[in-house]
Amino acid sequence: MPYRILIVLLLLIPSSGMLGQSASALPAGLLAPNVASYHMDVRLDPASKTIVGTERITYTNPSPDTLSEIWLRLYLRAFRDANTTWMREYGRWSAATLPPDYIGDITVQRLALADGTDLLTSATLTDTLMRVPLPQPLLPNQSLELDVIWASRLPRVFARTGYGGRDDSFFMVGQWYPKMAVYDRGRWDIEPWHANAEFFNDFGTYDLNITVPQGYTVAGAGVPDGVATNADGTRTLRFTADDVTDFAFATSPDFQTRMVKAGGVDIALYYLPEHSAAADEYLGVAAEALQMYAAWYGAYPHPRLTIVDVPDNATAAGGMEYPTLVTSEVGRSASSYSWLAYVTAHEIGHQWWPMQASTNEAAEPWLDEGLTEYTGIRYVAESPRGWTTSAAVAYEQSLYASHAGLPATLPSWQYVNGAYIVVYSKTALGLWTLEGVAGADRFRHAMAGYLTQYRFKHPNGADFRAALERDLGDLGWLFDDYLSGSGVIDYAVAQIEQTDVASTVRVVRKGAVRVPIDILVTFKSGAQQQQTWDAQATSVELKFPISNPVVRAEVDPFRKLKAELNRLDNSLGTWHFMLPILVVRL
Ligand SMILES: [Zn+2]
Repeated sequence: MPYRILIVLLLLIPSSGMLGQSASALPAGLLAPNVASYHMDVRLDPASKTIVGTERITYTNPSPDTLSEIWLRLYLRAFRDANTTWMREYGRWSAATLPPDYIGDITVQRLALADGTDLLTSATLTDTLMRVPLPQPLLPNQSLELDVIWASRLPRVFARTGYGGRDDSFFMVGQWYPKMAVYDRGRWDIEPWHANAEFFNDFGTYDLNITVPQGYTVAGAGVPDGVATNADGTRTLRFTADDVTDFAFATSPDFQTRMVKAGGVDIALYYLPEHSAAADEYLGVAAEALQMYAAWYGAYPHPRLTIVDVPDNATAAGGMEYPTLVTSEVGRSASSYSWLAYVTAHEIGHQWWPMQASTNEAAEPWLDEGLTEYTGIRYVAESPRGWTTSAAVAYEQSLYASHAGLPATLPSWQYVNGAYIVVYSKTALGLWTLEGVAGADRFRHAMAGYLTQYRFKHPNGADFRAALERDLGDLGWLFDDYLSGSGVIDYAVAQIEQTDVASTVRVVRKGAVRVPIDILVTFKSGAQQQQTWDAQATSVELKFPISNPVVRAEVDPFRKLKAELNRLDNSLGTWHFMLPILVVRL
């Protein structure tokens, strides 16, 4: 989800340089390990804002350990009162002020093994989690089947999931059913749901029958697979999804639909009639972004991507990602859809991070939101539908600037008072800087290599670093100094000095981040020389013969360092006519 901000920068001249590669789908068939799979029959009652459901979860122990218990996530319990971890971090309401229609909840009525053995009596609830002791341990690679009956109460949407729209008839149904927690690296991931975090799940298959009133259209994740009309005035739609970590759907009696193909992928848009003028832009951005990311990182591995447009009074449901389904919004400007482009491109970026490289968003949100923010902001800088590169950089820097002293790699719950934005913006600008330093082709090759190694797995930050360093060499400046540190990237040309014997340029590293930089010097003759400084020391002096003195010096002349906020001191001297640049490596 893009962090909600009130700053909307003016949307400037579009840039050129759009890539023309096509997105080809990966071959059909199961690609991911089948760890947690779900078969569900669910029924939405729009009047009571509830969903009742039955599910069979098939869980296979993916670890070498024997499991004596399992854990279920019950996300909607986050909204049951003002005292949950989620609500306390959100900080908007007390018990006295929480409006009743903003309350959500989920209750499990039956939990049993497939042979009928009850598990609910011995299960215990804490916050958004249920601990379930097993009557017999689950061995490595062994599977169990759980039968669950539950009821979910949806809140009026204020964070990702719930209802709104015309007569409260729009429903965004996310994080809404009893779901397996993840056992990874020798432990259950049992952090309660935090307000900043979204999810971390295992891969599996989904097969759902969703029953809604007759007039409702359902925008489901995965692929639609038939519809049946029922005698009680409802209809049941089937959806299936493979190689995914979750399932969400939206429904409304007002949805209109459009579809385009991008490479081998169907892009389905569900939009509201009041936003029909934006339909072309939604589809254009989605098709372009999907193909651009496929060219950078590797193919989108599903046959279909669904885009959900949200009502103007339910924008809290907009700008969210689920596997094969994203929500977006038209934005506030009547004259430009560039906000739509930014949000939509970001959410589609999530179809790579974390939907393919499935990282733990609560523990290491930078691997999820940071990589995605980089991906989306690069789309808006590349696409004619977006912003100029300088506008995109300025926008991202405006998000980063107020929290530039914070690391980007903390767990999500350690960021308070809006500081979570630094996970997005600092990481995005750091990766964009690395792209500049390493070169776009080498950088994207390294990113694609990371995804190839960890697609449908659970990598962590160390895995990401190792994958990038394998291709690009030591990146201590990025991972230690910048992302995990509190320092900034800041260079300056401090002095140009002429003596009887030498012309000397002094460049200083004012920030703690030791990223290598280019230094461009221009001589009185008009000749130019470019050097690269490793910036391990805090300053460097470049000496030249006084016979052709330096008249100008500039650090980072090609603006590779997108994370450098203060560029005012990056040059000294006067412009001069120029000759071709001689490149020297320090
Ligand atoms: Zn996001």
